[in-house]
Amino acid sequence: MASEVERAQAAAAQADSGAPTIFDKIISKQIPAQIIYEDEDALAFRDINPQGPVHFLVIPKVRNGLTQLAKAKEEHKPLLGHLLYVAAQVAKQEGLSQGYRVVVNDGPNGCQSVYHLHLHIIGGRQMNWPPG
Ligand code: AMP
Repeated sequence: MASEVERAQAAAAQADSGAPTIFDKIISKQIPAQIIYEDEDALAFRDINPQGPVHFLVIPKVRNGLTQLAKAKEEHKPLLGHLLYVAAQVAKQEGLSQGYRVVVNDGPNGCQSVYHLHLHIIGGRQMNWPPG
């Protein structure tokens, strides 16, 4: 089975293809996901491979060029703020009162494997620093 790094490097080759990602299928409900929050612009669902007792992703419903954070433009600023706000609200809803980690993996060096911008929110355990 491919390692996270191998998966990320393979995904980077497809990054700018504009092809739909697995998250598009989750947004359109073609494939199931444990959705824990939804509004007009954002969706939060549990990560299929959780790295902690709580691990969910927050994504924009419309990718609009935001395959990765590095592609952020001026026009994306309100959406980027909204995604962080949603992350905080859902973390509260999930009972993460002792804190949590928010991660955005960007590009091959950042170990990004899905090219639809997403925030990881991981909590429910003590985190360490630095990350690997
Ligand atoms: P990244 O490596 O930052 O691009 O993160 C992609 C994340 O998406 C990984 O943590 C995967 O476990 C998660 N993921 C991939 N497919 C699914 C899925 N069908 N449902 C929920 N999470 C998924």
